[in-house]
Amino acid sequence: MRSKASSKSKNGAFDESAGLRPRKSLGQNFLRDDRISRKIVLAIDLRPADVVLEIGPGEGALTRHLAASGARLVLVELDERAVGRMRELYGGSGVQVLHQDVLTVDLDALAASMSTERLRVVGNIPYYITSPILFHVLDNRHRVRDLTMMVQKEVARRLAAVPRTKEYGILSVFCQLFADVEILFDVQPGSFHPRPDVTSSVVRLVMLDRPRYALRDEQFFREMVRSVYGMRRKTLRNALRYFLDADPAAAVPDASILQRRPEDLTIEETVGLSNFLFEHFRR
Ligand code: SAM
Repeated sequence: MRSKASSKSKNGAFDESAGLRPRKSLGQNFLRDDRISRKIVLAIDLRPADVVLEIGPGEGALTRHLAASGARLVLVELDERAVGRMRELYGGSGVQVLHQDVLTVDLDALAASMSTERLRVVGNIPYYITSPILFHVLDNRHRVRDLTMMVQKEVARRLAAVPRTKEYGILSVFCQLFADVEILFDVQPGSFHPRPDVTSSVVRLVMLDRPRYALRDEQFFREMVRSVYGMRRKTLRNALRYFLDADPAAAVPDASILQRRPEDLTIEETVGLSNFLFEHFRR
């Protein structure tokens, strides 16, 4: 049996048998089912020429399989204990370990420094920053080929939702406009330590080269969607009044669309409306 002293890592924070003591503040639910880790990495289908950015490696549940793929690897982690452990394990093999908040990583500069057109991003991420991570990646989608990540099952359903369902909203519109979204499989709470309260799902977003529907102005679209889809129960006419500070009815030729609710609009209709309103109410 391994002695206690020999099971400690050099940085003293990691115990081989017990692992890292989870920090709730960092959203740490470590994956402890190696079949799931393998399944996730297999689904990514890595090639040696790929550059992978792993968000939050933690104890390295996914990292060991990512490293075995032969792809080049960059790890970004906020917890200094996990950073120390990852540097011990992989520092010598050319893996870059960034002790940093993923939301501050300049994906454009990172891809350029790794001489790759597009990164492959993967993570069993901290759920409390799911939306910021999604938007950070979508904002830099020209530098990302795909994003494979664990999210709460309920969030996965929102990413892939269709109009006129309670899950359809801001995340569905943004993700499906800029990426192909696929829910790969569910992961039960028992696969993690500590056990989370919710079931998780692994999702994949493959970035499109250009938005699914042509946008006149992306900034205007983003502001409109955030504002209008935040008022799901209002009619579009009322929701848009807040956003535009004017009555949209004067500018929209077919006013019947304004009697509908945001959650009833397809993404194509939302883009069409945004393009039209941008021409009339450009700021
Ligand atoms: N990937 C590991 C696994 O599958 O067991 C850990 C998963 S745990 C849910 C999330 C990890 O993200 C933790 O290691 C945590 O320290 C790290 N983390 C939390 N916030 C972060 C941030 N803003 N940037 C980078 N990593 C973060």
